[in-house]
Amino acid sequence: MARYTGSVCRQCRRENMKLFLKGDRCYTDKCAIERRNYAPGQHGQGRIKVSDYGTQLREKQRVKRTYGLLEKQFRSYFKKADQMKGVTGENLLVLLERRLDSMVYRLGFASSRNEARQLVRHGHFLVNGRKVNIPSYLVRPGDEITLREKSREVVRINEALDGVMRRGVPSWVELDRAGFKGTVKTLPVREEMTTPAFNERLIVELYSK
Ligand code: SF4
Repeated sequence: MARYTGSVCRQCRRENMKLFLKGDRCYTDKCAIERRNYAPGQHGQGRIKVSDYGTQLREKQRVKRTYGLLEKQFRSYFKKADQMKGVTGENLLVLLERRLDSMVYRLGFASSRNEARQLVRHGHFLVNGRKVNIPSYLVRPGDEITLREKSREVVRINEALDGVMRRGVPSWVELDRAGFKGTVKTLPVREEMTTPAFNERLIVELYSK
């Protein structure tokens, strides 16, 4: 699966907001947004008038980059969200949160979604007792995500678990730190999905043109 391999901090600077793509570094003053809060490139510090289309595009890019997706994948999530009952923008965010790599990150087994994706790919997790190595696997309420026995000594996973308290575990999941497992209590609701703060309605407007 293709993926972006350039500088992730550059993506945050382009979007003018913290997307929390780099783990612990994002919470320190080494964060590029703290140091150089302007768009990358030669004209990054110039004044740019942003059109409605530009605002919608930027919002879409923010969400897409936060979840580490490419355009085609993101479009297919939007299509799926549009076909579901309820509010399309909210459906979209819930679908993205339901990805296994996102849940692994939210539970604290990884310090970033990128790292979570790699851990899932390498087969470190079981979902309801069965090995799942597909980062886009959509979890459901009641699913149990467990770190495999042989992976419990992996230093970076333990460090991530120790550091999870800094950002906290969201209300829709429950972490059993000692048992190396987490449970999806319920689907997230919009009010609880606050970091980073998105305006998903702009994405719906963009794709509805
Ligand atoms: Fe880099 Fe994280 Fe800061 Fe974004 S939030 S600029 S990924 S350190």
